[in-house]
Amino acid sequence: IMSARGLHLAFGQTKALRGVDLDITAGEVLAITGPSGSGKSTLLHVLAGVLVPDAGSVDYGGTTVTDLDEAARSRLRLHEFGFVFQFGQLLPDLSALDNVTVPLLLTGTPRRKALAAARDALAELDLAEHAAKRPTQMSGGQAQRVAIARALVTGPRILFADEPTGSLDSLAAERAMEALVGSVRARGASMVIITHDARTAAYADREVTVRDGRLTIGGPGGAASTAAAATTATTATTAGG
Ligand code: ATP
Ligand code: MG
Repeated sequence: IMSARGLHLAFGQTKALRGVDLDITAGEVLAITGPSGSGKSTLLHVLAGVLVPDAGSVDYGGTTVTDLDEAARSRLRLHEFGFVFQFGQLLPDLSALDNVTVPLLLTGTPRRKALAAARDALAELDLAEHAAKRPTQMSGGQAQRVAIARALVTGPRILFADEPTGSLDSLAAERAMEALVGSVRARGASMVIITHDARTAAYADREVTVRDGRLTIGGPGGAASTAAAATTATTATTAGG
């Protein structure tokens, strides 16, 4: 469903990505692991069309995302992708229900229909009785499940999650992951999930590891390209973090 080739991206002197090739197949849950500063979030942002690489391309279902202007990439993100971050980034003054309704209103869904869909999404994440609460009136785990409901409510084909359970204790994290992976699989969507946590990675179908801006384990070509990447990674010098 998505295919990235030869991704390079530098922030000034810091080479965050140094030639990443990666395929995401329809319906797969892919975990991205690796040390802090290795380029995981940067890779996620390039795949999702948030950042444009210096070199290389990202193809999504026949569209070259990296050739699109910001407005077109923004539409793609809103209509085709969903996002969950470490700290849910809910709007603090809105109720859970209104938070989940926002992306539907932005995609032009009529208000009545949007509210009904948002209620369904909250119920799916076991949040029906918390619909009227604001984020500060909920536990961290509940708020994070609201963020998951908000990411899923538009029916994204790919969900991009950057440490989605990183702010939660292990029980809340497990519950959020069950809900997240369960909902993604039920919809036949794909998910790319960045995690430091082996228990979270265990929910994935496949795991790739980023080191110094390159994939050292995994990647589209299987064993052969993995060995080649690992060899070049050990000889690479580290710039930045
Ligand atoms: P973490 O696990 O800590 O979140 P990460 O693997 O997600 O790390 P990235 O955020 O992708 O790492 O950063 C990769 C490198 O690029 C780091 O050296 C970081 O300092 C640098 N970097 C990331 N974003 C920017 C930016 N906007 N401006 C300058 N440098 C950046
Ligand atoms: Mg990161």
